[in-house]
Amino acid sequence: MPIAFAIGMRLDPSPVWTCPFCPLLCDDRPASAPGCALAEAGLQACRWPVGAACPAARIDGQPATLEAALAAAAQRLARSRQPLIGGWGTDVAGARALTTLAEATGAFCDAAAGEALSQTLRVQQDRGGYTTTLAEVREHADLIVMVGRGVLTRAPRLLERVLDGRATPPQIVHLDAPGELPDTLVRLHLLVAEKTPAAAEALASPALATLAAQLKAARYAVLVWEPAQLGAHAALCIERLMQLLQRLNQTTRAAGLPIGGADGAMTAQYVHAWRTGLPLRSRHGPRGLEHDPLRFGAPRLLADGAVDLLLWVASFPGQVVGGVPAAAGLPRIVLGLPALAAQLGDARHTVFIPVATPGVHADGHLFRVDGAVLMPLHALQHDGLPGVAAVVDTLTQSLAPGRAAA
Ligand code: SF4
Repeated sequence: MPIAFAIGMRLDPSPVWTCPFCPLLCDDRPASAPGCALAEAGLQACRWPVGAACPAARIDGQPATLEAALAAAAQRLARSRQPLIGGWGTDVAGARALTTLAEATGAFCDAAAGEALSQTLRVQQDRGGYTTTLAEVREHADLIVMVGRGVLTRAPRLLERVLDGRATPPQIVHLDAPGELPDTLVRLHLLVAEKTPAAAEALASPALATLAAQLKAARYAVLVWEPAQLGAHAALCIERLMQLLQRLNQTTRAAGLPIGGADGAMTAQYVHAWRTGLPLRSRHGPRGLEHDPLRFGAPRLLADGAVDLLLWVASFPGQVVGGVPAAAGLPRIVLGLPALAAQLGDARHTVFIPVATPGVHADGHLFRVDGAVLMPLHALQHDGLPGVAAVVDTLTQSLAPGRAAA
């Protein structure tokens, strides 16, 4: 196998660090004092005892050398007629390599957060969108509305990032209506548009009427939401948020800031789109590239038995809790951070290769939450773990020349 990695080389922790553990990609604090519980948990999940050997690869639950695991993965990939490449928890280089492998194998492609990613994209495809950047929020927002739950769980330092240095901080309002958010957003839209008997509605929902008045009076309102936390009706909620923004922009200025695409998902979406012209939830099949956000979701493909191999990529700690999808007897190749090994479940048909986490064990690049900046990531230490791009390139090179899509 044409792959080699330095084992045991360590670098001193750098004072400059880009935290890779949420879509904000904060780069203003050192890893030794990130000032964020999520970052500290992420660093902890990426560590193992100093001086200990690099965590081992596994073949069907048994420890193996990296070379043996790569050979086993290559054999299983070569036997597959319809693979699914899922997870996509990696950086730009890893996503580029995965796209090339997908083209060579005719794979379906879907990210771990594929449903939220897909619902956001579908609304933008249907209606367009009004989105903003962190810098715009910091410079101009005078009203920030946190919609639904989970924004500050996903991005703990968001308010700090957009409030720091503000002489006049914006108003911050929380809008939450568990189970009723789509209806609440319709009523808010009607109040803003003054298309409802305002007096009656204001009596029934004084808080909503107050928010409508605040939105209309603001010079630059920003609505913030976490797509994965909007529940089963996420697409409906996002569509109604966009309608509300459209209405507000007739008389003032307003924009949205979705806090999604964590763990490399948004980066993968961008890379796949610029390499192929289509987003994830696509298949590189015999009829060319096809995109279907409903039929090509990983959970559905696995439930339908539509694939004969899963290549799952999860190099970020945020992907450990969700584990690795499984289906009875389905061969899996898992490229994951070492902590994922404990979450594999039935490993009888699984090749596990531990990989570096970008921003901890390797340099790399990720897109920030607003898509405006491609952030460089800097390794804190090199422990000999291979990067996703190197492993995937090796697998691609192992395929028979001219291998056609199934
Ligand atoms: S808010 Fe996100 S990017 Fe910033 S330090 Fe915390 S986990 Fe890292």
